[in-house]
Amino acid sequence: MIVEVIAVGTELLLGQIVNSNGAHLGGRLAEMGLDAHYQVVVGDNLDRMVSSLRTAAARADAVVVSGGLGPTQDDITREAISAATGRKLLFNEEHAAELRAFWKGLGREFPESNLCQAEYPEGAEQLANPRGTAPGLFLEHDGALIFALPGVPAELYQMFDEHVAPRLRRRSGAGGVLVSRVLRIWGHGESAVASCLDDLYHASANPSMAFLASEGEVKVRLSAKAASARAARVLIDPVEQEVRRRFGASVFAADDQTLEQILLDELRARRWTIGTAESLTSGMAAARLSLLPGSSDVFRGSAVTYAADLKQSLLGVPPEVIDDHGVVSIETARAMADGAARVLGVDVAVAMTGAAGPAALEHPPGSVAVAVRTPDRTRGRFLRMPGDRERVRAFTTASALHLTRLGVIGEWWAE
Ligand code: ATP
Ligand code: MG
Repeated sequence: MIVEVIAVGTELLLGQIVNSNGAHLGGRLAEMGLDAHYQVVVGDNLDRMVSSLRTAAARADAVVVSGGLGPTQDDITREAISAATGRKLLFNEEHAAELRAFWKGLGREFPESNLCQAEYPEGAEQLANPRGTAPGLFLEHDGALIFALPGVPAELYQMFDEHVAPRLRRRSGAGGVLVSRVLRIWGHGESAVASCLDDLYHASANPSMAFLASEGEVKVRLSAKAASARAARVLIDPVEQEVRRRFGASVFAADDQTLEQILLDELRARRWTIGTAESLTSGMAAARLSLLPGSSDVFRGSAVTYAADLKQSLLGVPPEVIDDHGVVSIETARAMADGAARVLGVDVAVAMTGAAGPAALEHPPGSVAVAVRTPDRTRGRFLRMPGDRERVRAFTTASALHLTRLGVIGEWWAE
């Protein structure tokens, strides 16, 4: 079954509000296993709304309109639907009486203009709106189901679930669902991931596979359509296992799990505490480690040693290490991590030192050394981060947490 969403509102076209209703409805339709080929945004203009409605009703099995049901002059979805379907606008006396009673209850005079909310195209059903005064609409025209919902997101969400979803389910006959699993991979570029999975990508239509690169990681999304969520998971499982087999520990999380959560759980399982020694990130890793409630049983603290002499006086980095190898070096990072473990009294310490830019230190901007100390050893890595100062700092923070996870689980990243 194909469903088309039409979001109405000139303010959407002007970019004054974001079409989050479109995103929400798109997500809900996908979860229900329904197809969406087009979403349309149209301004508050009768002719263009009529033309969008006719086009949508002709090429889709169902149309969901968002917005334009309010009481003001620019709310013309009712008129547009009646014009597009050639139906008269009728008046629901009962709803009009309810509107008057509602305003009376507020102790305010009834604005007569609100009577338009009692209008409906002939043959349409008015859908109750428990959160507002504008009812929705439902009608069937030339084999297409047409729904109209108010634009206010909270009203639209609830009314979609209560009125639209059950009717779409009944009509599509399928109790089908679309289930997705997102595997998050760190340490490999998008094209490397895509080429490593090329055979699976082509061999598997259900689940389908999609790649999404964001902030230094690659997400692989597997989406399966099936009669039930359980059946969809049975389709996803073997493909997921194969992706996990190929990428091993580089798959650090699934779905909504966060790196912080995963790392803290790994530490907690080993009863290890953690602290950070940060130069160019100045506490950004510490901020992420303390983001989650309850992190205090694992995360103890941080030493922000931006100035070179503080690396010596606070962390005890030997002057000759800095003299011989420079501030941005694996050796300095390792000495910082060892010092932090001692000073902060933690089992695991992660240290970062580097050139955030735009000025170069001993190395070009984006050169970063990260070291991770675990109870058995201290390991370091030299990295090159892309982008401006802000990105270098954010990428360094994320990379340091990823490397810490690999160190903790004994899968230190080997290139
Ligand atoms: P109302 O009865 O409040 O006038 P309505 O059905 O006429 O509701 P609109 O006037 O189009 O709907 O929009 C009302 C409010 O809902 C907007 O000011 C906006 O904040 C929000 N809204 C409308 N359309 C969208 C959309 N597509 N995505 C997100 N929010 C929206
Ligand atoms: Mg309105």
